[in-house]
Amino acid sequence: MSVASSLPKLCVVIPCYNEEESIPVLVEKLTPVLERETGGSWQILFVDDGSRDTTAQLIWDLHAKDPRYQGVRLSRNFGHQPAVWTGIQHALGECIGVIDCDLQDPPEVLMELYRKVANEGFDVVSGVRGKREECPWWLQLAYRTFYRVMNWLAEHDYTLDSGDFCVVNRRAHEALKRLGESAPVHRGLRSWVGFKQTTVSYQRPPRLHGQSKYNLRRLTVLAMNNLVNFSTAPLRLATFVGLFMGVLTLLAAGLFLLNRLVPSFSIFGYYVGQNAGTATLVLYLSFIASALFFCIGILGEYLAVVVKEVKKRPVTVVAEVTEQERG
Ligand code: UDP
Ligand code: MG
Repeated sequence: MSVASSLPKLCVVIPCYNEEESIPVLVEKLTPVLERETGGSWQILFVDDGSRDTTAQLIWDLHAKDPRYQGVRLSRNFGHQPAVWTGIQHALGECIGVIDCDLQDPPEVLMELYRKVANEGFDVVSGVRGKREECPWWLQLAYRTFYRVMNWLAEHDYTLDSGDFCVVNRRAHEALKRLGESAPVHRGLRSWVGFKQTTVSYQRPPRLHGQSKYNLRRLTVLAMNNLVNFSTAPLRLATFVGLFMGVLTLLAAGLFLLNRLVPSFSIFGYYVGQNAGTATLVLYLSFIASALFFCIGILGEYLAVVVKEVKKRPVTVVAEVTEQERG
């Protein structure tokens, strides 16, 4: 028997933080769907992210009833992304799915993602959110704008409007497991690993119980982690500002000079001759500022290399090699 066939067909990772109300409903809805789709070959891996309620107890009780419910308990609350990362590291399955505990990622849609991997040969299938019913319009706009800016700045094709809801196959899972990031952002890494990717759109219903664990501070941290992990553009910004200001300084210097030498040439009615000292000072300050920005930018360029080295992300992910190559 091959190793692959001894694994469950689908292992679903579920990060949970104070979800005692949601877990029973989720289990009731998800289990029959998994049972039907995989013929009983499934596993659910709950990651209890340091919950203060009875979440861990619920998970361990479920495991006692049916060992296909598995649990990993973290020593404290590390946050959503670290919890998903832990789940990815521990999950065993031919396919790995990730869903939220609050039924905002519907089990039926999870099966749609799974079918695309199992039957249609995709390696990574991400759920893409349509309208977010639970969010005010300004937050929806902020989310949409953020993902588009991210896609523009990122050094790879960043999947738009997708959270952590996904199903990946074994080779994408293996690639994800090898990434030793200190601040992993699952949605970004998932599109980074490449292979054959696709998306499935779905409407995200409101949370079933309780409140979102994301406040403005946590959202900002997530957005910043996204940005600095997948783009060095902010570090480059200073170089461009420096260069831009340098060009402006040169232009201004040219205009001032022309104004001094050609008596009939004015700068919008202004003659440098009236106040040569101020003009020189403006040019001098502007030159110093552009030189400083440029130097900061150069430091940024080196810092970008250091950041990449420290992350130890592999340079490439190999999808396939020829038989001969495999030797
Ligand atoms: N979560 C977690 N640790 C945290 C915060 C959240 O494991 O510190 C889990 C939470 O239980 C849920 C998922 O991550 O299953 C998504 O969280 P939430 O529903 O609060 O996020 P939202 O849907 O509002 O983006
Ligand atoms: Mg939620």
